[in-house]
Amino acid sequence: MAVNLVPLRIEMLAQEVVDAQSSFIRGKGLFIKIEFIQGLPLLMGDRDLLIQVFNNLINNALKFTQEGGITVFISLQDEKDVLICIRDTGIGIAPQDRERLFEKFYQVGGGGRHVGGTGLGLAICKEIVQRHGGRIWAESDAGKGSSFNFTIPVKS
Ligand code: ADP
Repeated sequence: MAVNLVPLRIEMLAQEVVDAQSSFIRGKGLFIKIEFIQGLPLLMGDRDLLIQVFNNLINNALKFTQEGGITVFISLQDEKDVLICIRDTGIGIAPQDRERLFEKFYQVGGGGRHVGGTGLGLAICKEIVQRHGGRIWAESDAGKGSSFNFTIPVKS
């Protein structure tokens, strides 16, 4: 995977992805919104790869959310890292599955989930985030939704 890091504003990139997806998501009766703190720093990122991460996490959120919607939230994790959270109000993920989600080919079964896809999406997201020097993890209240969070270092 070739990574081409350039200075960019992650909130602008996220806004583009949200704008591109919003009519489709609203057509499904769900909301999508973006919130970010003012004065976020520039970071070094690969535009195309980060768009792939946003699209992947938003599409997953969409697959497992029947009511409510998706919030993209961007803030600072600490002075060296930007924190991006993609939260949904969907079916959530049980604690025992949360650890393994980012493994290649891992899929969560049962509980009325339709299993489609390849089980590769989150493994690819992890690879991309790690190539940027960041980390990715999931939080969830089973039944109340999930939050997929990742950090990207700010431009030094
Ligand atoms: P797939 O291509 O099968 O969707 P992923 O790697 O993207 O594979 O996701 C792995 C598993 O994580 C999926 O099978 C799905 O059950 C679960 N998952 C991913 N995102 C969410 C989410 N937002 N809410 C609930 N479950 C999720």
